Amino acid sequence: MGKNTVFSDDIKEIVIDEQELKDRISELGKEITDSYEKDDDIVMLCILRGAILFMADLAREIDLPVVFDFMDVSSYGASTESSGVVRIIKDMEENIEGRHLLIVEDIIDTGRTLKHVVDMLETRDPKSIKVVTLLDKPDRRVQKEMDADFNGFEIPDKFVVGYGLDFAEKYRNLSFIGVLKEKLYI
Ligand code: 5GP
Repeated sequence: MGKNTVFSDDIKEIVIDEQELKDRISELGKEITDSYEKDDDIVMLCILRGAILFMADLAREIDLPVVFDFMDVSSYGASTESSGVVRIIKDMEENIEGRHLLIVEDIIDTGRTLKHVVDMLETRDPKSIKVVTLLDKPDRRVQKEMDADFNGFEIPDKFVVGYGLDFAEKYRNLSFIGVLKEKLYI
């Protein structure tokens, strides 16, 4: 559990440890770098708040000039089930018309959040839209077409926290991805 001992009693298991995250994010950075041209105009869009640590680490592994932007969307509230209602709390600032958009997500579960965001951003005529997600739960997908172009880890259908992902706004600062003990959220 390393430096996050304050949460030791809350975590049932570690699903992805700090080193595995680091290694895979480095690989993702290379994959993403190789998929663009050197002079492409790329806007990296972090979907708040869950993708914030992933965005920060991934950006440093991408060997291309990128612009940062942020969009705050809410789909869960304080429960562990997707409501299907996606609310844009803060829109992005950059004009993406004619530019390459790289959406950075923490996790794709049902795919509803991403579908909503992609549909909305497509109307702004970007040159391309690619999606990178740290985690993917393919078994839970409702929006079948919502697969990421780059995917860090496929995980089973378990509610995970840490490395940006929360439960009721807690656990985002864990340095690993873990599963909470059931008693905390049932
Ligand atoms: P979707 O719309 O794909 O069902 O859900 C995507 C969003 O739900 C993610 O961006 C994330 O905020 C939240 N989410 C989905 N699964 C999990 C999970 O296992 N743990 C946490 N903390 N959030 C999740």
